[in-house]
Amino acid sequence: MTLANSAMVASDAAADRKPPLLEIANLEIVYKESILAVEGLSIAVPQGSIVAVIGSNGAGKTTMLRAITGILHSVEGKITKGEILMNGELISDREPWEIVEAGIRLVPEGRRVFVDLTVEDNLLVGAHMLRHRATARESVERMLDLFPRLALRRKSLAGYLSGGEQQMLAIGRALISNPSLLMLDEPSLGLAPMMVDEIFATIAKIHRERDMTVLLVEQSATRSLELASYCYILQNGRVVLEDTAKSVSKHEDVREFYLGVGKEGARRSFRDIKSYRRRKRWLG
Ligand code: ATP
Repeated sequence: MTLANSAMVASDAAADRKPPLLEIANLEIVYKESILAVEGLSIAVPQGSIVAVIGSNGAGKTTMLRAITGILHSVEGKITKGEILMNGELISDREPWEIVEAGIRLVPEGRRVFVDLTVEDNLLVGAHMLRHRATARESVERMLDLFPRLALRRKSLAGYLSGGEQQMLAIGRALISNPSLLMLDEPSLGLAPMMVDEIFATIAKIHRERDMTVLLVEQSATRSLELASYCYILQNGRVVLEDTAKSVSKHEDVREFYLGVGKEGARRSFRDIKSYRRRKRWLG
């Protein structure tokens, strides 16, 4: 092996050792000093990947996102064990604005756009991290190129947009200041299936064209598993299953409980799935 080759191998090995962009290690979260919401949670989001965290109501998904964004204390929650790292640096002791400075953006559940501002102004609000007015304006135009539906309605008040358009606006607002990690909390919630397809196609495009790292948190497993490369299934505040999205989508329990496909391939009714979920003991 030549010296140049061995240097290349060494740098490949160093790249392999690079920490994930986001890492959660053995996290425990308690609300109001008594309610254990998350226990022993560990996940990794490698640079450039889409990772899905799937779980039903009360699984701890939002709690995990609150911990990452540093807003737990505002809802009387506290990290009692474990840590959160970004690029190998501890961030679980940081304030929310420091998390934003570290390049993490959350699109919260329920979209939460400024209904009394126009589409353009909503995007400009997201661009406040960009120092120069001209750069901010250019970035707004780039976002409107990315979301042609929003471009058509750039002067409309956000309150008049459809749910799907508001979701796009919320994503655009989060993206505009070029974050390193985009986190989406249930982007499909309450949207018509066609609009969900469009939102997921947009997330795929952002990932492809901007090499964006995405942490996708969802109740709906079908589309998340199609989009993500790796997946964690969360139940009662714990990871009960993790693997590549391909393997998880073949897992019998996931097919039965999250994809609504029975053992014989027959689709189950929602009522069946709910009662199965209640009875199922993932943790033995
Ligand atoms: P959903 O999809 O319904 O939002 P989720 O997976 O996001 O569910 P969380 O909202 O994180 O779940 O809730 C996890 C657990 O923590 C639940 O048992 C919930 O009741 C509890 N919890 C959440 N927020 C609080 C709070 N502010 N105070 C007390 N308990 C809470």
